[in-house]
Amino acid sequence: MSVIIPVYNEAKQIGSTVRSVTENLKAAECSYKIILVDDGSRDSSWEQISLLSNNDHDITAIKFSRNFGKESAICAGLERASGDCCIVMDADMQHPPSLIPGMIRLWRDEGFEVVEAKKTSRGKESWINKFGAAIFYSLLKRLGGYDLKNASDFKLLDAKVVTAWRSMSEHNTFFRAMSAWVGFRRITIPFEVAPRDIGKSRWSFLKLSGLAVNAITSYSSLPLHIVTILGVLLLIGSLIIAVQTLV
Ligand code: UDP
Ligand code: MG
Repeated sequence: MSVIIPVYNEAKQIGSTVRSVTENLKAAECSYKIILVDDGSRDSSWEQISLLSNNDHDITAIKFSRNFGKESAICAGLERASGDCCIVMDADMQHPPSLIPGMIRLWRDEGFEVVEAKKTSRGKESWINKFGAAIFYSLLKRLGGYDLKNASDFKLLDAKVVTAWRSMSEHNTFFRAMSAWVGFRRITIPFEVAPRDIGKSRWSFLKLSGLAVNAITSYSSLPLHIVTILGVLLLIGSLIIAVQTLV
């Protein structure tokens, strides 16, 4: 199996995350490779990642030429993934590696093709992020029909799901929604978001807002219909005014 970890400025954290992931993979008794995708980090993450991959053949390192964002890092990892399944998770230990053996068990013994870890709560965050997330998820649910509240990017995907993912030629991906859109036999497991050990969230409110607009316009055609409706309303309005002017 492959474990994909997007990394952006996680130099201080990545070593211990990889250690913990490795321990849990070994506990699950499966052969694995860990794919670390450096998303154009500006600290010494790449040095750490190279060191890790030089010392361990089961670790593959990918380096982006600049910061393309987490979604792109996940895509690059999924492109390189091999084996019978893959796991996508964060580098900052907010996705507990101790869940890995359980996720593998659900896939291997019970035949689930997607195992999604769902947050029991959103953890500590600013009120603006909490408020923004509430609006975003309720809009996405109403317009696109996807209930992704408390969903996370911590997921196990069967190789079939990865093949389906690869066959879609999306440019602006939203992993959380796209991995729901493809379907397959799925199960959700709860997890408590651990507070970030080191550093702070790499997402600015602006970056998150961009992702939100992108997700809503990708999963709902309502914004397009609004343009049509506005066009029709303007047409009716101008016809009325034209008649009034002629009279
Ligand atoms: N990340 C990334 N590129 C970015 C921002 C974040 O690859 O531009 C990675 C980051 O290193 C971490 C994961 O995505 O492994 C989640 O990021 P973060 O913890 O900052 O987000 P949050 O937990 O606040 O959602
Ligand atoms: Mg985090």
